[in-house]
Amino acid sequence: MRTIDHWIDGALAGGTSTRRSDVWNPATGERQAEVMLAAPADVDTAVQAAKRAFESWSQSSLSQRTKVLFAFRQLVNDHTQELAEIISDEHGKVVSDAAGEVQRGLEVVEFACGIPQLLKGDYSDQVSRGIDAFSFREPLGVVAGITPFNFPVMVPMWMHPVAIACGNTFVLKPSERDPSASLRIAELWAEAGLPPGVFNVVHGDKETVDALLDHPDVEAISFVGSTPIAKYIHERGTANGKRVQALGGAKNHAIVLPDADLDFASDHLVAAAFGSAGERCMAISAAVAVGTAGDALVEAVNAKAHEVVVGPGRDEKSEMGPVISPEAVDRIVRLIDAGERQGGKVTVDGRGLVVPGHEQGFFVGPTVVDGVTPEMDVYREEIFGPVLSVMRADTVDAAIALINANPYGNGTAIFTSSGEAARRFQRGVKVGMIGINVPVPVPMAYFSFGGWKDSLFGQSHIHGPEGVAFYTRAKVVTSRWPHVEQAIDSSFHFPTA
Ligand code: NAD
Repeated sequence: MRTIDHWIDGALAGGTSTRRSDVWNPATGERQAEVMLAAPADVDTAVQAAKRAFESWSQSSLSQRTKVLFAFRQLVNDHTQELAEIISDEHGKVVSDAAGEVQRGLEVVEFACGIPQLLKGDYSDQVSRGIDAFSFREPLGVVAGITPFNFPVMVPMWMHPVAIACGNTFVLKPSERDPSASLRIAELWAEAGLPPGVFNVVHGDKETVDALLDHPDVEAISFVGSTPIAKYIHERGTANGKRVQALGGAKNHAIVLPDADLDFASDHLVAAAFGSAGERCMAISAAVAVGTAGDALVEAVNAKAHEVVVGPGRDEKSEMGPVISPEAVDRIVRLIDAGERQGGKVTVDGRGLVVPGHEQGFFVGPTVVDGVTPEMDVYREEIFGPVLSVMRADTVDAAIALINANPYGNGTAIFTSSGEAARRFQRGVKVGMIGINVPVPVPMAYFSFGGWKDSLFGQSHIHGPEGVAFYTRAKVVTSRWPHVEQAIDSSFHFPTA
């Protein structure tokens, strides 16, 4: 059985722990590797390596850093297909979707290549007679990222390219369920010329995460994952005096107005609900049909959901792969069962799907549940699977109120041909990322990504300008270089200009 080690100080490292976790191939149901689970001592080794590396990396010039970033960008670009296959084999998503994930991560690397521009400070000449003021930002030190299984390349890339470009050193704790892509990324960083210790990977579970949260030399934590863990990370990290941004789970609604192009809306809804088997924090999991849009929408969505080709991620014909684990299959099926029991109508049923030749794979087919109401478990819980709930609202305002009553606030979308309705929606919803005729409105790398309410703990969104602010702290200098013969008054009252 293959063993997946950590990456510490520029090399593979087995660590001191004997604890391991199984890594599955979701398409075949086979156990394909074991990943080491780092003990606190291993975390300390990684953090100490990062702390040593910070001494020189934080002093490197902006052009030295950008040279490495440009080289890394080229290498990731050249290895996109290989990375996509690594992702697909452990996560299950189809290779083309995985390649899209690498591409979206790469856009953050490209954003970080502009770090000299992003770190430019402000300067004010002659704020008082003979006095100038200027500001600049410095890196924090060792920063850590803790990431979920669903985007094993992209989500860590929301963090490390920006953190490293700013002059920090980084310890990544990726999901133990699909850990291999992070090691390949570590090798590519090394090949790009990043000095040892600047980027480290420790695999693990709660014990490993807690060691990072409690480590006195970790200055900041970026977390992306489920809401209960995000809340915990934020509480424990901030209690230990760290800067924390913790992005949580989601329940994303798309509202469809009667004036929307139903063919366009249903195409996009099906892709947004079932792409990556619904295992996206920006997946649409609730469609809210407004007014008369309902029955025709359900009919169109049902027809298209039936056509989705489900199969192994490595098969080019597959549009949707398996979910991550047998436990995920059980949870998804349990919630569809509950939806049915509580009064929903399962109009497309993905339960019990068997993919020929892959009978042991962790498959659930696209599922549509109509007539869903806010009290039902299928709506209240984040399913994180290929299940679209359809709800009804009489007016746009009622649909907005429904969205705002939900505890999550990650993403949402509206399908309409009315600019007035779209504007009312964009101003009225309490959600961080909004799509207008765009179902999965993931912001580009030069904007920041993040939700509201239970989808984010901490103030800072991720990547873009907020990412640069998160990984740096500001200094403001007020300076005077008096002419030797110039008489300078000093006084006991508070200085004014
Ligand atoms: P998860 O919360 O189970 O795990 C995330 C990370 O936390 C992993 O590295 C895991 O090892 C670690 N972890 C798990 N349990 C822990 C514990 N008790 N203590 C400390 N650390 C722990 O999430 P997941 O199942 O890997 O990913 C799916 C979730 O992530 C979904 O809820 C999804 O909505 C969310 N997500 C959110 C975003 C976003 O941008 N808001 C993006 C992607 C995924």
